[in-house]
Amino acid sequence: MELSEPIVENGETEMSPEESWEHKEEISEAEPGVGSLGDGRPPEESAHEMMEEEEEIPKPKSVVAPPGAPKKEHVNVVFIGHVDAGKSTIGGQIMSPSMYMDFIDRYLSWALDTNQEERDKGKTVEVGRAYFETEKKHFTILDAPGHKSFVPNMIGGASQADLAVLVISARKGEFETGFEKGGQTREHAMLAKTAGVKHLIVLINKMDDPTVNWSNERYEECKEKLVPFLKKVGFNPKKDIHFMPCSGLTGANLKEQSDFCPWYIGLPFIPYLDNLPNFNRSVDGPIRLPIVDKYKDMGTVVLGKLESGSICKGQQLVMMPNKHSYCGSHGQIVIIEHKSIICPGYNAVLHIHTCIEEVEITALICLVDKKSGEKSKTRPRFVKQDQVCIARLRTAGTICLETFKDFPQMGRFTLRDEGKTIAIGKVLKLVPEKD
Ligand code: GDP
Repeated sequence: MELSEPIVENGETEMSPEESWEHKEEISEAEPGVGSLGDGRPPEESAHEMMEEEEEIPKPKSVVAPPGAPKKEHVNVVFIGHVDAGKSTIGGQIMSPSMYMDFIDRYLSWALDTNQEERDKGKTVEVGRAYFETEKKHFTILDAPGHKSFVPNMIGGASQADLAVLVISARKGEFETGFEKGGQTREHAMLAKTAGVKHLIVLINKMDDPTVNWSNERYEECKEKLVPFLKKVGFNPKKDIHFMPCSGLTGANLKEQSDFCPWYIGLPFIPYLDNLPNFNRSVDGPIRLPIVDKYKDMGTVVLGKLESGSICKGQQLVMMPNKHSYCGSHGQIVIIEHKSIICPGYNAVLHIHTCIEEVEITALICLVDKKSGEKSKTRPRFVKQDQVCIARLRTAGTICLETFKDFPQMGRFTLRDEGKTIAIGKVLKLVPEKD
């Protein structure tokens, strides 16, 4: 997985993702410390290679769309950002009746909120889904809730997303709250990156607010504060991020160019989405479809993101995990935030692709030096915040996963405990269960 850098107490980050990508090859199980970077090149070089490795998911040799497949490219978008930044309001604007919409039955409620209880609370809790089409693309919106305790849902939503839209409130005081320690702007952006989202659109919202009044200065101020952080998370500001001003309330700069921001050079939100270059997918790889949800409607309907391969009508598929799969794995992990030390025997909750499972750290294999990539020769007795280690994890039940090297989308994970993200990691090796 991509190791986003640990966030230390003051909210600053210490290790750039490039640095944290250094540890490329699998370790040999019985010999901690052996191997290091293997090829003798400086870690930066290998790290760079590693980034590229993830970028270059095998390209299809021959793309044959299965019969009945939609002609438009299908893109999953997740809305992330602090509570009250305006995600639902923007979602509601985008799905106004002037656009073709195709809702799943239970998401027929207005905007993206999913049930009466949520509407009463005015918060979006479940990861709701709604569809809309533009000229060239078919979009599924996965609305991510802004509330802290729903970060696990956010991980589930983001793990399916090709693209994340980070909604930021420019309103005086609100931008600051969302970005402070404890605000969700940072955590969401980091989780989105960890979950494999490569492209980020940052909507600087509430530009109509009287405290903002479409001020270019305020827009630039928000942008300047966000850029260094997003860069540290691992997004490349030049390639991966696009900023734009908007008002979810009035709809300005969402579908059409707004007169209020002549200083903004670029397309409004929807035309920008429509004109995004195609997201390459590996259609001739093995079928991998992490399942997010299921419901009954004239048969069982499953929802998920097809990470590789292609599916067509009438095909018979095998659902995993079955009893032939693996239970143990080695994960390289970075401890982001933890109040004390972590020892073998520690239990946490593992989030990997769409799966959530209890997990135990059964062994700590070695510590990894963040700067040099060197592995410790002896097994550590514990790890603490900001350290990187290689550990063996054992899940309570059987789950599907791949090594990060083979399949990044199913080989990156987060560990959570007591409602907090405590570590992020990547799967280095799968260890067969001993009888
Ligand atoms: P969410 O929690 O991110 O989904 O935020 P909501 O969409 O529920 O919006 C939170 C509050 O901000 C609501 O009272 C909205 O009316 C208000 N709001 C959202 N977008 C805008 C905007 O562009 N301008 C102004 N002035 N208020 C907005």
